[in-house]
Amino acid sequence: MGSTSPMSSRNHFLRYLLIAILVITLVSIVLTVYLRQQRSSRLENAVQQLSSAGAQIEWIDHAVITLYAAQNHFRYFTLTYQNEHFNNYSKALQLVAADLDSLEARRRHEQKMGGMLKDMETKSAMFMHVKQGMDSLLIHKGSWDTAAQHNVFQAIPSFNFSQRVVTDTIDPGKKAAKSKKLFGRLADAIADKKPKQDTAGSSKKIVKTTYSIDSRSPGYRREMERIHAYYNDLYKKISQGQVNLNKRELEMVASSDRLLKTLREDLTALKAQEVAATAEKKQAIAADIGQMLAGKDKATLRGVWLISLLTILILFLLWFDYRKGLQLQKAKQTAEKYSRLKSDFVASMSHEIRTPLNSVIGFSEQMAKTNMNPEQEEIMDAINLSAGVLLSIVNNVLDFSALEQGKFALDTFAFSPRKAIEDTVKGMHIQAARKKLQLTTDIRFPRETMVEGDAFRLKQVLFNIIGNAIKFTDEGSVTVLADLFVQNGKSTLSISIADTGIGIDPKHLPHIFDEFTQVPGARGTSGRHEGSGLGLTIVRKIVELHGSGLQVESYPGKGTTFRFSLPYKTASNTIIIQQQDIHEQKPRLAHILVVDDNNLNRRLLEMILDRLNIPFLSAGNGIEALELLSENEFDMVMTDIQMPEMDGLTLAKRIRGLSDPQKSALPILAITGNVVKEDLETYMAAGIDGYVLKPFKEADIVEKLRIFRTVEK
Ligand code: ADP
Repeated sequence: MGSTSPMSSRNHFLRYLLIAILVITLVSIVLTVYLRQQRSSRLENAVQQLSSAGAQIEWIDHAVITLYAAQNHFRYFTLTYQNEHFNNYSKALQLVAADLDSLEARRRHEQKMGGMLKDMETKSAMFMHVKQGMDSLLIHKGSWDTAAQHNVFQAIPSFNFSQRVVTDTIDPGKKAAKSKKLFGRLADAIADKKPKQDTAGSSKKIVKTTYSIDSRSPGYRREMERIHAYYNDLYKKISQGQVNLNKRELEMVASSDRLLKTLREDLTALKAQEVAATAEKKQAIAADIGQMLAGKDKATLRGVWLISLLTILILFLLWFDYRKGLQLQKAKQTAEKYSRLKSDFVASMSHEIRTPLNSVIGFSEQMAKTNMNPEQEEIMDAINLSAGVLLSIVNNVLDFSALEQGKFALDTFAFSPRKAIEDTVKGMHIQAARKKLQLTTDIRFPRETMVEGDAFRLKQVLFNIIGNAIKFTDEGSVTVLADLFVQNGKSTLSISIADTGIGIDPKHLPHIFDEFTQVPGARGTSGRHEGSGLGLTIVRKIVELHGSGLQVESYPGKGTTFRFSLPYKTASNTIIIQQQDIHEQKPRLAHILVVDDNNLNRRLLEMILDRLNIPFLSAGNGIEALELLSENEFDMVMTDIQMPEMDGLTLAKRIRGLSDPQKSALPILAITGNVVKEDLETYMAAGIDGYVLKPFKEADIVEKLRIFRTVEK
């Protein structure tokens, strides 16, 4: 017992240590993941900021380059007046505007984020300036609407020249081979003539009419002068327009150039600022990353603190629980220790009580067999009765302790249930007769019917219930009814025990099976309440061990009936005949070796053997017994177990080791007060053939003598 306590405390400690390690590991993993995530998200943010800072500079660069391109397109346009160049110029301006829009969006985003740059305001002002420049350039561009250019050329007025017409007649025969000249075809066209089809064989003459200005006509000069005046006027207008136009153009080109230049300068300044800001930002981010990697971030520190605190709390609770568990375990161990001590005490006490009780019962039995006067007989009766009650109490206490420790097990061997019932009832007839009660049995199956099970426990159940029935019945009868049902190799023994006694109040009925319970006011007919209050507790446990249940029906003043059914394996009928034979045989004269250190017990055995006329020799311990064995021939050894010098078990082992085969095979019977099943099994393993439990009666000895002498010889 002492070895299990530190062992289980160690296990307990290891269990908690394992849980603590698991908790710490888990928390460490969570903490690592948390820190990693924190750092990686901030790093990601920093990288994003850095890359976006680069992008802004790229946008400014792009805007400056596009502005250069715009200026070039504009110059081309002013040189060529081709719409294509003006369109390119417009597109370039649109691109610059788009870049500025992106920059503005970025600027707003930074403002929203609180920004990391100190010169956010300066930057904003600069940007606004650039933006304004761009807007005025776009407005300026609007005035370069090429579609609005006025056409200075007006419809040419008609001039009045007099015509000269000459008509020729041509012979086709001479001309047919010649193709018509271009001039001729034009002349045809002006004259609105249909082209003639060249048909072979045409013999018609062709008339050719020629129109020309007649320079000799008097209006010719006048018309020419008019033309001259017209073109002169036109030239003047164009010249004047050109002068006007160049002036405006120059102004616009200059203004456009100016704007472009300013814009470029602004953008360059913005870029310079942006570069400086980016450098500053990079520095700040680098410092931030450094701080972050050094783990000095406040939020992270707070998180770490919180998790650490929680871990400490969990570990503290675990420690607290561990201490509590340890205390509970210790308390449990102490309780178990005391429970074991109690059981050991009960077992040893019952054993100690059994030995003197053996003398009381045994000697009073022997005394009863002598000639006594009626008064002496009465005294003897009283002694016997009290000894019987005492024995049943001791037995019940011992059984209860075995039940509590789970040491209570059922035996399995073949027996006749009818014989078991009859034997028990027979032993109780005297009790019933004393109270003038009718104790009857109605057993509805033959004696030869055998089952396999625990006959001793069946007798114990019957003994208790019938004993109670007699105890709590003043007049009338106690009837035992039994039947056996055999089906599919299984036998069910059904028994009911009915009395006409005082009955049990319904309110007490559910409690009669509780340990140490006695119904208040219920008195046996002796006027005293004899018993330990354990009888029915043990009875119910035994019935339950069989896998069955115990029923009770009771009517106060009318009587009580107990019912139960026990399942058994059906056994062959032959064994009972063998046993019958054994019991019918008379013990033959034999030579017995009696070994017991207790003088009274030894004397009792000697008296019984004397009465049976069986010769014997006695020894006070194992050593004396072995000496007697070496010098004498015996038929059987009857030995106590607990003895000084050499105990019964060692004696049995020594006998089994003797060289003489007859002596080493001698039947050995243990006479013991120990009823613990495990101990009895140890006896058998040591070479003991059977046992008689104290307190024993003459009949028990006779029965064993018969069995062993028949079996062995
Ligand atoms: P005890 O050893 O004191 O008899 P039991 O456990 O055998 O204890 O019985 C418990 C109680 O049940 C008894 O004290 C008694 O009051 C009641 N009892 C048991 N059997 C009967 C019966 N046949 N008639 C009336 N009362 C009974």
